[in-house]
Amino acid sequence: MRKRSWAEPFKIKMVEPLRMISAAERAKAAAEAGFNTFLLKSEDVYIDLLTDSGTSAMSDRQWAGMMLGDEAYAGSANYYHLEEVVARHYGYKHLIPTHQGRGAEHILSRLLIKPGDVVPGNMYFTTTRAHQELAGARFVDVICDAAHDPADESPFKGNIDLAKLEALIARVGASRIPYLCMQCCVNMAGGQPISMANIAAVRALCRQHGIKVMLDATRAVENAYFIKDREPGYSNKSVADILLEICSHSDGCTNSAKKDCLVNIGGFLCVNDDELAERARNLVVLFEGLHTYGGLAGRDMEAMAIGITESVQYDHIRARIGQVEYLGALLDRQGVPIVKPVGGHGIFLDAAAFLPHIPRSQFPAQALAAALYVESGVRSMERGTVSAGRDPDTGKNIEPKLELVRLTIPRRVYTQAHMDVTAESVWALFEAPERVVGLAFTFEPTYLRFFQSRFKPVEGDVVLRNA
Ligand SMILES: *Cc1c(COP(=O)(O)O)cnc(C)c1O
Repeated sequence: MRKRSWAEPFKIKMVEPLRMISAAERAKAAAEAGFNTFLLKSEDVYIDLLTDSGTSAMSDRQWAGMMLGDEAYAGSANYYHLEEVVARHYGYKHLIPTHQGRGAEHILSRLLIKPGDVVPGNMYFTTTRAHQELAGARFVDVICDAAHDPADESPFKGNIDLAKLEALIARVGASRIPYLCMQCCVNMAGGQPISMANIAAVRALCRQHGIKVMLDATRAVENAYFIKDREPGYSNKSVADILLEICSHSDGCTNSAKKDCLVNIGGFLCVNDDELAERARNLVVLFEGLHTYGGLAGRDMEAMAIGITESVQYDHIRARIGQVEYLGALLDRQGVPIVKPVGGHGIFLDAAAFLPHIPRSQFPAQALAAALYVESGVRSMERGTVSAGRDPDTGKNIEPKLELVRLTIPRRVYTQAHMDVTAESVWALFEAPERVVGLAFTFEPTYLRFFQSRFKPVEGDVVLRNA
């Protein structure tokens, strides 16, 4: 029998009209934004693939839940609902809500890190590393080598290289490693999952050395889907059960609910240790809000609780990843260089291969993201040298092996037709890549520079010739 197509497991009840401005207006908007897609006005964007963070469409049930907001300062009913749902699906003992993921990272880093510590992880994430460094630690990447090769089609490129981890422990000593940060569906590697076998092996090795494992569970549901789809022995397990099993191999987690949990704002920190939870609750009142709201309104916590329940439904997560794979297949078929296999939350264009005429010092991924916007109104994001920032010791630009442009797919927001238009926009640039011009900094902020930095073309004043 022929394999049947999947379709979105929802129908659309409310629409938000899109607007497309002219090519001349887009060129002007790009220049005004310093060729940084983060500085564009959303109104000037046609299809917004900047991020999948906080951009999900909520369901009718989540919107109904917003009306059940219990906006008490302390002990909101929505907090207790969220606590129950997080315990059911993530399985940790203590929940500390935060306004978003970085709020949880901030508290965790302050709780566990001493100056001079080292925190290993499977590739850095921007905010995670920034908080580790702010607390005085150095981040060390222990991801497998395959993660750095866009053409390597291994199924679990998010895996940690145990030999690298062991060598690090031998070199710095376990006492200087307060915890290992294990990220699900590694964002900067292209949304690449980590296998359950690797998760368990890392846990065992860390336990031998008395090192805690803290999960970055932001994309743990997408990771659970890939384990079900790709790892032997898991095809008959539910995504919900796999998620619980992933979390069971850690001492706690930080989570940005703006991704898998299908809400526009929110996050949480979870820990199993009672004493650590007490200290976290002490810090959360300083930085986020009382421990039963953590910077969120009651209605936000309700929407999150319902969103978590929806996020582990198989039909939802299959369609979510199916849409990403659909766009990936369209691009791959035309020979566009993308990170393979396609990960969970977006398509990552290999900008170094796409624009071989632009040297790394002229930020090919930044230029490609700006040019794609000028060409089509599609907004994407740089994930390369600009995002990697500078080495805190030498002050030099870190040149990551991956120089990528991320086309991130918001959950339940766009249709397949939007994916077709996006693919056509990328093809148009791919046919004549030499039209794209490299960039140079005109302004570079100190922290997380990719958000607010500004650029100018290295020659002329347009990033895309003959637009
Ligand atoms: C988004 C994200 C974070 C940070 O969460 P915010 O909600 O943006 O503060 C941390 N880790 C990963 C992997 C993320 O994708």
